[in-house]
Amino acid sequence: MTGISFNRFVTLTPFQFTRGRCRAALMWLLVVLITSLPHRIFGASVHVLCYHTFLGKPSIYTDFSVQEFAEHIRIIRSKGYRFVTFKDMRAGTVTGDRNVLLVIDDGNISAYNAYKTVLEPHHIPAMFAIYPGIIDTRKFAMTWAQLRELKSLGNEFASHGYFHEFLNKRLKDTRPNDFEKEASLSKRLLEKELSIPIDVYVYPFGVCTTEGKELLKKNQYAYAMTIRSNPTEIPLNRNQNPLQLPRTMITRSTVRSQLQAL
Ligand SMILES: [Zn+2]
Repeated sequence: MTGISFNRFVTLTPFQFTRGRCRAALMWLLVVLITSLPHRIFGASVHVLCYHTFLGKPSIYTDFSVQEFAEHIRIIRSKGYRFVTFKDMRAGTVTGDRNVLLVIDDGNISAYNAYKTVLEPHHIPAMFAIYPGIIDTRKFAMTWAQLRELKSLGNEFASHGYFHEFLNKRLKDTRPNDFEKEASLSKRLLEKELSIPIDVYVYPFGVCTTEGKELLKKNQYAYAMTIRSNPTEIPLNRNQNPLQLPRTMITRSTVRSQLQAL
């Protein structure tokens, strides 16, 4: 009995030896995958932060001064976060969970100034969510020329409706033409003026409804963003609904805790 045991454990045949090495190699590969490439297996995430204006008016709860915005960016960078683009998110090339996408809503002229002062010097990209009803026509809004310049600097764009309406059943029932325009005319104008495809929608007021989602599908939008403070999962198909991706709205009363939580 002793001799058989000795042979079984010590004198391995070439086949047993090879099988043992294969097992060891597989174990090693598994350990490498689990320890060094977790995000390829489990995915990554991005904190999508939603800003509005940079007028320096404390009475507006979503507004910040350019200096305050610069301080937010400094804090985010000091925590080791990377600024990513929606293109990165869509391609699934984002890794880890220390990622931020900046989305600046509405197209206010102060967003252009904040970009030039705070983001451009650090080559930080942003996504501008625009409702074309005000572009080139309102003093407080950017011009198409400014938006084209932002595009040439590597920034991205999303539709934010045409006239910033609630995309809901009430609008559909009471003003069906305006309801359609929010998705179709805004897309058409942004595509024509900026010469880029637009398939991302940012819900005005974060209001996401069944009627709205149906309209976006009909108009070939692939993604839409609402307001919910959890991070966006990467690859994007890990999120519950591509037409209901989360974003964190940055406000004066919450910004301190929001930045601390990063
Ligand atoms: Zn808005």
